[in-house]
Amino acid sequence: MPAIDGLPPLREVIRAHDLVARKQLGQNFILDLNLTARIARSAGDLAACDVLEVGPGPGGLTRGLLAEGARHVVAVEKDPRCLPALAEIAAACPGRLTVLQGDALALDVTAHLTAPVRIIANLPYNVGTELLIRWLTPDVWPPFWTSLTLMFQREVAERIVAKPRTGHYGRLALLAQWRCDAQIVLTLPPEAFTPAPKVHSAVVHLTALAEPRYPADAGTLMRITAMAFNQRRKMLRSSLKGLAPDIEARLLSVGIAPTARAEEIGLESFCALARNIAGN
Ligand code: SAM
Repeated sequence: MPAIDGLPPLREVIRAHDLVARKQLGQNFILDLNLTARIARSAGDLAACDVLEVGPGPGGLTRGLLAEGARHVVAVEKDPRCLPALAEIAAACPGRLTVLQGDALALDVTAHLTAPVRIIANLPYNVGTELLIRWLTPDVWPPFWTSLTLMFQREVAERIVAKPRTGHYGRLALLAQWRCDAQIVLTLPPEAFTPAPKVHSAVVHLTALAEPRYPADAGTLMRITAMAFNQRRKMLRSSLKGLAPDIEARLLSVGIAPTARAEEIGLESFCALARNIAGN
């Protein structure tokens, strides 16, 4: 039973298990173990944490997480072809890796995890945003995780950390920054992956705040931002018309110009409007 650093190179693992990448599963693998170790380190200290990894594939990032000292890694992989390769990693780290086969959108993995939990993943791009939104919108806050360290297409990463009056600013930025600190910690060119995708990628690190940055009812805030950004070029007095009959007065009372557009308005003002709407 080889130790983690005695396992064969990932190219050999992929060849031995015939893991030809499948586009429909978002399979763009990272084969450079220095890079996967860097991603693991960008999540912070793993020693006293459980880690949830979605989409371990042949296990490059999984090895990084274990080598960086994660207490226990729970890895959810949809593609059964990857299981033998992951079993070799589990054998090298007895008791520290649990592999669950299935769809991360369908499995409830919380029973396998002990707090504190960090979520760290090179996500399949087709389900990445949906998973992020689920993790950001649990029924109760704080959530079961303390941080998310996630690979996205660079354009999605920029939408998560965007500030007002920038092209990427929108609902995803508001959702993420309302309850988290969010920053891009690494950007990667297409060649960092095998096969190389068409786009650049970036790792975003989000840390859950103990409480939302400003008070607001989650449902009301989501409804307002959906309406405001669905028609982002329109003035708020018309995009939010259906929200309340006296919307102009409400906007003015929380200090928002009714002629302003959604992309000019910061999180604090959207939360003030949500409180105003929910309060009446
Ligand atoms: N972590 C590996 C790496 O960094 O090289 C693989 C990353 S690859 C971008 C995405 C992985 O997610 C693939 O292994 C794919 O099979 C898996 N995957 C795709 N959809 C999934 C889903 N719904 N649930 C769980 N895993 C999924």
